[in-house]
Amino acid sequence: MSNENNAPQDPADVPKMLTLAPGFCVRQAIDNIAWIDMGEYAVVIDTLEQAELEEEIFAAIQKTIGNKPVRYVINTHTHYDHVALNDAFRRRYAAEVVNAQTKCVPPEGLRYDGTKRSIQILSMPGCHTEEDLVVWVEPERALFVGDIFGWGLIPLIVNLRRETADTLVNTYTRLIKLAPDVIIPGHGPLCTTTELKRWLAYFSRLQADVAAACKAGRDNDDILRSIAPPEDMKTWWRFLKWKHQDCIAKVLKAVRKGWL
Ligand SMILES: [Zn+2]
Repeated sequence: MSNENNAPQDPADVPKMLTLAPGFCVRQAIDNIAWIDMGEYAVVIDTLEQAELEEEIFAAIQKTIGNKPVRYVINTHTHYDHVALNDAFRRRYAAEVVNAQTKCVPPEGLRYDGTKRSIQILSMPGCHTEEDLVVWVEPERALFVGDIFGWGLIPLIVNLRRETADTLVNTYTRLIKLAPDVIIPGHGPLCTTTELKRWLAYFSRLQADVAAACKAGRDNDDILRSIAPPEDMKTWWRFLKWKHQDCIAKVLKAVRKGWL
């Protein structure tokens, strides 16, 4: 099937309801939200950017898991595009909001057990924000990574430096070791550890290529133009649109400044 102008469809343009298991739902769009039936209560993970989606989201929850009370709302971090419906959940269910600002997450994590499922919240700061949390769901072995993985993006909002690059690599390595069956990023399509591994290789290669180009005396425009996106990553969500260029620019800046 093709649309009128034959432009490839952006997979996040139309929200999709995904059922990862009975009672485990992800509404996948540009911003993702999930609700999970734990048994006697439900948890919600991340609450979008648009507060006006409140009725639509509550209707979808009702339709999929019924009147199960939402006891906890977990935010992978508190950027505006992950918290818009927090208050709505507080009002409707008296839900407790759990994020790095409302809770101290100990090194071993926070655990919530239900009769159907368990979740574990782990602190993994420094890839996107100092608040980054990931959420592990048993028995599905599903992992919510918030904005730590961004389909090709260098997720840092601080400057790329040796130390922040190391944090990224170490955190991705830790996430891969958890061996999840499915990964739910904060935005866009779901993925697996295959994409996390691929991104690590890309990141490492990009640093080597940019360093070599700088050493060869090439100028910034030339470098930005000439480092091609890897063939197998061209279909990654919005990677060609802007993320690859953004990655080159961040690495280039770090190399020029002597930070990498
Ligand atoms: Zn964010």
